[in-house]
Amino acid sequence: MNELPNPAPTVTPDTEEFWAATARGTLLLRRCDRCGSVIWYPRPFCPECGSLETSWIEASGRGTLYTFTVVHRSGIPGYREARPYVVAYVELTEGPRVMTNIVGCEPDEIEVGMPVRVVFHDTGQGNALYRFEPDPSPAGGG
Ligand SMILES: [Zn+2]
Repeated sequence: MNELPNPAPTVTPDTEEFWAATARGTLLLRRCDRCGSVIWYPRPFCPECGSLETSWIEASGRGTLYTFTVVHRSGIPGYREARPYVVAYVELTEGPRVMTNIVGCEPDEIEVGMPVRVVFHDTGQGNALYRFEPDPSPAGGG
């Protein structure tokens, strides 16, 4: 299994702080100051109550695997060479489900519900991609 490529993300004014944090190994989430909803993807308003009063919070970087698929066919350069690779939704401890890749293990070692933790892959462009790997010591465990 080859390494996945690390293409630089598209950074917008709304996501600039989020991506800057990834370079420091930090996963940021946006939380509504009015209703407490944790917002994904990062944006300056709350999709639940419409409030513009939202703040950055630092995520634990932990979660569980919600669902996944193993990609065997891909025409995307870089990804094609990395096959098979895993595309997944991870449910963060804070609530949101984020689309990501699972790395650090073979696809046949992956199962729904397994604990995972975030890892960052440097894009070389001042930020990093968030991916997840199996978490050998999930919070609340041993
Ligand atoms: Zn809200």
